[in-house]
Amino acid sequence: MSYQIAIDGPAGAGKSTIAKKVAKEKGFIYVDTGAMYRAMAFYLLSEGVDPQDAEMIAEKCVGADITIRYEDGEQVVLLNGKNVNGVIRTEEVGKMASVTSKNPKVRERLTALQKELANTSDVVMDGRDIGTCVLPGADVKVYLTASAAVRAKRRYDELTAKGEICDIQKIEEDIIARDEQDMNRPIAPLRQAEDAILVDSSDMTIDEVADKIMSLCK
Ligand code: C5P
Repeated sequence: MSYQIAIDGPAGAGKSTIAKKVAKEKGFIYVDTGAMYRAMAFYLLSEGVDPQDAEMIAEKCVGADITIRYEDGEQVVLLNGKNVNGVIRTEEVGKMASVTSKNPKVRERLTALQKELANTSDVVMDGRDIGTCVLPGADVKVYLTASAAVRAKRRYDELTAKGEICDIQKIEEDIIARDEQDMNRPIAPLRQAEDAILVDSSDMTIDEVADKIMSLCK
């Protein structure tokens, strides 16, 4: 049996930074499920699909073959054979992903791929529904959160470090809107699994959070 660590939580809580670190320390693979939903959203955007047209999303999503490869321990998302890592980290794609991930057909396709990955390797997997839907039997489940203000500040620092000009107020509003959408969808909404440990990282360093999760694995 593979060992499974599930980390869920709202946007900007630091899930990927922590999950990557824990995966490295444990020698597990890191599966970033948000990147898969982003790759799907990128595909649907490039196909000109209206985000409100559920029927069209269900019809078009079957044309997206999304797979994962690891290069030097880094997850590479392939969309129809092409590496899309460099184009899926925009606000536009994130917003589209939050809308299109509501679609049952999209979730069905990506969840199957995620389950397969976790069956064949020891994983640290992060997302919104890992502890509740994708890996309900995970060995360790963490619900990682932080205040909206802290999460907005982290995202702001990340973007400004890349040279992007942005408005922190607007980032916070967008984060709150995306969480609302993710928490209130009918299928696989973002919520803490009953057996997940809540970790609020607002006043914690990356190392403290990673150590906390490592200690839960013992
Ligand atoms: O984590 P990230 O911001 O990359 O995720 C983008 C969007 O993908 C989320 O806002 C959410 O709507 C969707 N998602 C999801 N289920 C997951 C991971 C991400 O619905 N397991």
